[in-house]
Amino acid sequence: MIQPILYEIRLLGLLLLFSGIIGYFFNVLTPALVVGVTLYLLRNLYQLLFLFHYVITRKRTPSLTPIGFWEPIYNELERLHTRSRKRKRTLHRFTSRFREVSSVIPDALVLLNAAEEVVWANPAARHLLGISWPRDEGVALTKLVHYPDLDEYLTNADYSQPLEFPSPTNKTVVLSMRFTPFGGKKRQRLIVARDITKVFHLNLIRRDFVSNVSHELRTPLTVITGFLENLSDHELLPFQERPFELMNQQAARMNIIINDLLTLSRLEMENRITHPSPVPVPELLTTIVEQAKALANQKGGYQLEFEVDENLWLVGTENELQSALSNLVFNAIVHTPPKTKITISWKRDADNNACFTVTDTGPGIPQRHIPRLTERFYRVDKARSRQSGGTGLGLAIVKHSINRHEGNLSITSKEGFGSCFSCCFPDDMTLDANQLNPVKQKK
Ligand code: ADP
Repeated sequence: MIQPILYEIRLLGLLLLFSGIIGYFFNVLTPALVVGVTLYLLRNLYQLLFLFHYVITRKRTPSLTPIGFWEPIYNELERLHTRSRKRKRTLHRFTSRFREVSSVIPDALVLLNAAEEVVWANPAARHLLGISWPRDEGVALTKLVHYPDLDEYLTNADYSQPLEFPSPTNKTVVLSMRFTPFGGKKRQRLIVARDITKVFHLNLIRRDFVSNVSHELRTPLTVITGFLENLSDHELLPFQERPFELMNQQAARMNIIINDLLTLSRLEMENRITHPSPVPVPELLTTIVEQAKALANQKGGYQLEFEVDENLWLVGTENELQSALSNLVFNAIVHTPPKTKITISWKRDADNNACFTVTDTGPGIPQRHIPRLTERFYRVDKARSRQSGGTGLGLAIVKHSINRHEGNLSITSKEGFGSCFSCCFPDDMTLDANQLNPVKQKK
């Protein structure tokens, strides 16, 4: 850095010395010095013009050899040029790769800005969603995809569950649309829409199959139980008594399984409850607690504790909620030994959600079983559960019922310390009994 400056000082010094000597000899010292300085300035102006040309034309090499402090300036510019060219090449390579990859992805990808307008879309978005980029750039998503629930989905901005709907371009195709917020303040969104027609139909077939089989089994079972009832009116021979008792038990068990399967199929038909009405949860809990006490006494006595917010109601379907909440309470009695402490609470949590929690100090559930407990027929101990009359369908029914009420079931447990089953409903599914009109309160 010091070299170019020394060069410039030397150049200016030499020019002034040379013009000073000439001026001294010809007795025109001042004009000669002015000429010397002017020459130095003209030389720099000349260099500046070349620099201007070099920057504007973006040439790779300067058209004159820079000297003095012009040399490091040119060198720095050259370094910046090279770096920027490299970056451009990398960016270009990356953009073409991204275009190539996004064009072969079978799922539709759409980028939305904060105003929910299309910013970019890949080619698959054209045949799955009818969105073509760049044609539709800047157009609002709701103007391109006409689906009644889409507006509400975007307003709620709850993207935890994907939106499933028929493709706007082909009604026989079922799409699952997932929204992922990204960017500053997470106001932009990436949409991934996937063709789930096959999975959707397989699910329908499975649901219909289970429902049909359950219905079909019901008729022969009704006949069998009818005959068993008839037989119970007759005197049985001693060797017939035990088989008869077992037949009765198994028929009753089969009846429960069929009923549970039919309940599950019915719950699966719709993701949301269809005719919501105010549900007096504290009243439901009073009935559940009475039944729980009776069951607890039968099993040898439990320490039951309650904490109920008397004004906290829900909006939903009463019998579905009754069955879900009672299932959690009865499970705590059925799957724990006598004398266990069971705490039942119904109140708001810190986020104002309404939470129903059943905590027990029973043996707990090993961690590996917890994620699978809500699967159909999943039981930690099959033999014991069967003995206690369980079908393994209870928690699957609970989960579906709670989800249909926009709630969430969470299970925590620690072996040797007990379990906690909790279902929380969002504030907008709750009602304050104090604010209800008298007609509803009488319900
Ligand atoms: P079941 O008809 O067997 O009760 P569920 O679906 O209701 O079926 O429960 C699934 C399994 O979860 C039960 O078989 C049991 O092993 C376990 N479980 C449920 N609740 C509890 C609890 N409070 N304590 C320990 N295990 C439990």
